[in-house]
Amino acid sequence: MDYEMVKFIEEILKLSEKEAIEALKKTLYPDFNEAFNKAEKILCIAPHPDDCEVGAGGTISSLSRKGKDIYIAIATDGSLGTSDPTLTPQQLAYIRMNEQEEAARITGAKKVIWLGYKDGYMPYDKEARAKIVNIIRILKPDIVLSPDPWLTYEAHPDHRNTGLLAAEATLASGLPHYVEEGLFTGLSSWRVKYIAFYYTSKPNFYFDISDTIDLKVKALKAHKSQFEAEWNMFEALIKFISALYGKKIGVRYAEAFKLLPTQLIHAIPFAEIL
Ligand code: ZN
Repeated sequence: MDYEMVKFIEEILKLSEKEAIEALKKTLYPDFNEAFNKAEKILCIAPHPDDCEVGAGGTISSLSRKGKDIYIAIATDGSLGTSDPTLTPQQLAYIRMNEQEEAARITGAKKVIWLGYKDGYMPYDKEARAKIVNIIRILKPDIVLSPDPWLTYEAHPDHRNTGLLAAEATLASGLPHYVEEGLFTGLSSWRVKYIAFYYTSKPNFYFDISDTIDLKVKALKAHKSQFEAEWNMFEALIKFISALYGKKIGVRYAEAFKLLPTQLIHAIPFAEIL
């Protein structure tokens, strides 16, 4: 260990735990707080139509306004999301596909990619992971957004499985020797710089969406089949949560993420407290 490093560790040990984490973050990942601003391409992965808008709709709108390319990948068709027994799953899947495309137009996302799994039956398998790796290698995003699979009290398997697969695929896509059935040949490996988990109980990054909360709300409204029946309550809830997150960074509205450099999503206990 060189002298500079010894000195750095000595300095770190003098700090409180919180200060030490901040110092380490600044040293190892100086662009951490600028991860979103520096990204050119962002891929948001969602278990269902509407999750990207609920979890990150304001962030997506803000980034697309700044000229970044946003892609949305939806794992399942959303065909279970109704309390109306007269609507068939096929009809609902069609409705929700259109709603998602409309929401993407509102937030300014460039394209929606459909993985085509059945709502409620998102598998946790190698084939699904290979599909996501293909998407990552084709699009080459700087940041991948996905639901946090380790969200406390997450009871929906589609959310857990999609989040796990997104994290695994983010890691695997950077490995040139990763081989899997269903993986397209001829695509080069791609190292995603950061993964940002939305729907997280351990947020460490807040994105100011004060200027785009209206677009987020409008995009959510496009998901009529999901929110129209109780729209007023839902809108109030979304604004309330966004305002709570906003308080964390002294702005009116924000969205919360667990943001991690991709190198830290394997065998790093430190990721938990970063
Ligand atoms: Zn969902």
